[in-house]
Amino acid sequence: MARDDITVLFLSSEVDPFAKTGGLADVSGSLPLALEGKGVQMHLAMPKYRPLLSSGNEARIGKGIKVYFVENHGYYNRPGLYGEKGKDYPDNLERFSFFCRRSLELLKEKGLRVDLIHCNDWQTALVPVYLKSLFRDDPVLKGIKTLFTIHNLGYQGVFPQEAFEKTGLDRSYFQIEGLEFYGKVNVLKGGLLFADLLTTVSPTYSREIQTPEFGYGLEGVLSKREEDLFGITNGINEDLYDPATDEKIKKNYTSETPEGKAENKKDLQSLCGLAVKKEMPLIGLISRLADQKGFDLFVPAAESLLKSGFQIVILGTGDEKYETLLRKLGQAHPESLSVHLTFNPVLAQKIYAGSDFFLMPSRYEPCGLGQMISLRYGTIPIVRRTGGLADTIQDADAPGGNGFVFSEYRPEDLLGCALRARKAYKDKKRWGTLVRGAMTSDFSWDASAGKYLDLYRRVLAR
Ligand code: ADP
Repeated sequence: MARDDITVLFLSSEVDPFAKTGGLADVSGSLPLALEGKGVQMHLAMPKYRPLLSSGNEARIGKGIKVYFVENHGYYNRPGLYGEKGKDYPDNLERFSFFCRRSLELLKEKGLRVDLIHCNDWQTALVPVYLKSLFRDDPVLKGIKTLFTIHNLGYQGVFPQEAFEKTGLDRSYFQIEGLEFYGKVNVLKGGLLFADLLTTVSPTYSREIQTPEFGYGLEGVLSKREEDLFGITNGINEDLYDPATDEKIKKNYTSETPEGKAENKKDLQSLCGLAVKKEMPLIGLISRLADQKGFDLFVPAAESLLKSGFQIVILGTGDEKYETLLRKLGQAHPESLSVHLTFNPVLAQKIYAGSDFFLMPSRYEPCGLGQMISLRYGTIPIVRRTGGLADTIQDADAPGGNGFVFSEYRPEDLLGCALRARKAYKDKKRWGTLVRGAMTSDFSWDASAGKYLDLYRRVLAR
């Protein structure tokens, strides 16, 4: 494809393979590659966290994408990205104001001319504000357009009003048409008001966030910007998440060699101290342990799932209350429930490959990547119908479906759904078709990257 002559700086607080706590890192590490493939000249910037200290201040991904690491020992040389032991760092406003400002200064220092800055989540939300305030008349930066992607509206960067000066903005920006939000500073709100275009990571979530139930108080701001708000479903990096080549799993396999998947199940069962039995339906669950992810739904359903003959493997870190609950549950059922409270990308791949089902009972889900990664590994999702899960998973009890879906946020609905899934699992012929269909479906970035490119063009044409 011909070069498009668009140059973009993509800003994110986490980029796989450099730093990751969740799906934002997956997206930031793969969408730029797909855009580069479409001829866009991409640059990336992210904070230089502790594990990156031994690297230089730049790296490369893709064919020629430069990744700039923004350095500040006081702010980023710490064990966590955003906090420790489930608690945010108290100076996150300073830490990410600095990141935003330094990223802009970097453009000037390096003499990098970009047409557009693609910002992601609240950690980068001050960039659109800075461009229209502090740097409004800057000869290098003026005229740069911004696209802001909301990956999760549940995280807004809210701070006490006394902290406002840390942003470096004039006090006049602390008002209702600015960053003021019920007497506090809301950084995300700044991004939503000042960016030229807004996107979120699925069409359903783009509608949901304009309602009080999902809008977390920003539904009014979002509705006002409805014309500029688009929902684009995430893709996954199909080279990285490929059971045919994944080096983290026991045995590689394809839709033509599903026996390989059985080897991975055996490996996972024995690794987790579960009964090594081929016929036992095995559910995998990999997730941040947060209210959003539906653990208050899962925990009361877990005993019944185990009683019904499921084995379950859980991998997650996060809220201490869920860590405690899950630890207890695991101790009570050592032979059928295996709980791993760590962040472990190797084990994650073993779970995607070795499970029969992948559970996502989310309360809300902007897009969700787990359901797409699991499909790629022939592991059938059981999900709640919300946000991106509703856009990517259709119930397999109707023709053409690729997973099992329940609607109401009730433990008995989760259980009923899992039992329907098990029924399909026991029907070997039907299950084989479902697994093959899953493994051959397209969750690449190609179509979605094209939609981002269309939006880049649209905003640059203004
Ligand atoms: P979110 O971004 O809300 O956390 P997603 O489903 O979009 O959820 O993406 C989660 C990503 O993080 C997936 O790649 C998943 O495999 C990974 N992940 C989540 N928890 C862990 C963990 N404890 N160990 C390894 N990978 C994890």
